[in-house]
Amino acid sequence: MDCEFAIRLGMAIGTFMKGPVMIGTDARTSNDMLKLACASGLMAVGCNVTDCGIVPTPTLQYAVKNGKVAGGVVITASHNPPEFNGIKAIDKDGTEMARENEEEIERIYHERAFTPADWSRAGRLVVNTTSIDRYIGGVISKVDVASIRRARLRVAVDCGNGASSLVTPKLLERLGVQYVTLNADPNGAFPGHNSEPVPENTKDLVELVKAGGFDFGVVHDGDGDRTVFVDETGRYLYGDRSLAIVANYICSQKPGRLVVTNVASSSCIEDAVKMAGGRIMYTKVGSPTIARAMMQHGGIFGGEENGGLIFAEFQYCRDGAMAVAKMLEIVATKGKLSGLNDRIPAYCQCKKKTACPEERKQDVMKELAKDASGGRVDTTDGVKIYFEDGWVIVRPSGTEPIFRIFSESKSAERAERVAEEYKKRVEKLVKG
Ligand code: MG
Repeated sequence: MDCEFAIRLGMAIGTFMKGPVMIGTDARTSNDMLKLACASGLMAVGCNVTDCGIVPTPTLQYAVKNGKVAGGVVITASHNPPEFNGIKAIDKDGTEMARENEEEIERIYHERAFTPADWSRAGRLVVNTTSIDRYIGGVISKVDVASIRRARLRVAVDCGNGASSLVTPKLLERLGVQYVTLNADPNGAFPGHNSEPVPENTKDLVELVKAGGFDFGVVHDGDGDRTVFVDETGRYLYGDRSLAIVANYICSQKPGRLVVTNVASSSCIEDAVKMAGGRIMYTKVGSPTIARAMMQHGGIFGGEENGGLIFAEFQYCRDGAMAVAKMLEIVATKGKLSGLNDRIPAYCQCKKKTACPEERKQDVMKELAKDASGGRVDTTDGVKIYFEDGWVIVRPSGTEPIFRIFSESKSAERAERVAEEYKKRVEKLVKG
């Protein structure tokens, strides 16, 4: 990625959006270079640009949604290592761009079908530093502030030197929550740890919470759209657990509410939703798909096991700070996070993968779906086959010549056995 690429992609995005655009970045070292190049491209095709500075992705999405603009651009590589970067277009309603619109932008880019503006129509650049305060105000308006304040909670927060450093501590301050921070200064070298909120990057936070005195711990990814929680005993909660806890709470507030997640999510989410009288809907993997299904079918809450939680009442995108605020409300009103977690059934999971040439993938999936040994089959994304106390899903990787095999059961041995059985079955089908 270089600035010439960013200029041309900016021209393609601007040609597509045909109007004012907001731009923001996470905390990466190459951001200023890419942002100004991309903004130049946008202005070259006549778009006025508002530079929102370093902001979490959901902060920019909230600004776009409320800003009467044609769209947004965020320069971020999310949770990836420091040498990575990306340029991502945001739709005018603040959601992640639908795949077909991204493809149209790619077409404009590759065909150089830009619509350059002459000197009198070139876009202008303004800087706006108010988006973070507006966003925090928006988050606060969606939670029970009185209960949170009354509970006098204490939270340990690891911002991973990402964009959330500028938001989550301020949010906690404004909610009257006491907090201790780790890695809470934006730094694109990620000196604290890599920016994916996985267990190996969360050791310091877990130790801090274990030392005692916190209601829970929080860790964000680099661009602050994902949040993972550590309970008050220092236990790392995988994203499907926090998804289940929040889904259970939101569904318990009104019967019949709809929660949307992808077809590879743990059944603990469905269990938690049904325990609270709610309904579940499964989609293909990917947060834009989940967000759009929520919009279309009236889903109140949704997300995936990577810690990306979507709250329809706030905005239709993954939102790290909103997840923190909602979890504060839940713990303030329902009690300890460890207890909330223990109330939801747990499953054992097993993940495997096996090689398959691209051209064989479709045939293998067809054969798998046919030969499901009588179990219920779901082909929403890959092939999912249910058995007595669990399921197995076989999905082709979108980027590698492999199949991923993922199983879940109440028993660890059964999860392992079924995953191995389907791995062998795929290997046999690949050979033909
Ligand atoms: Mg992210």
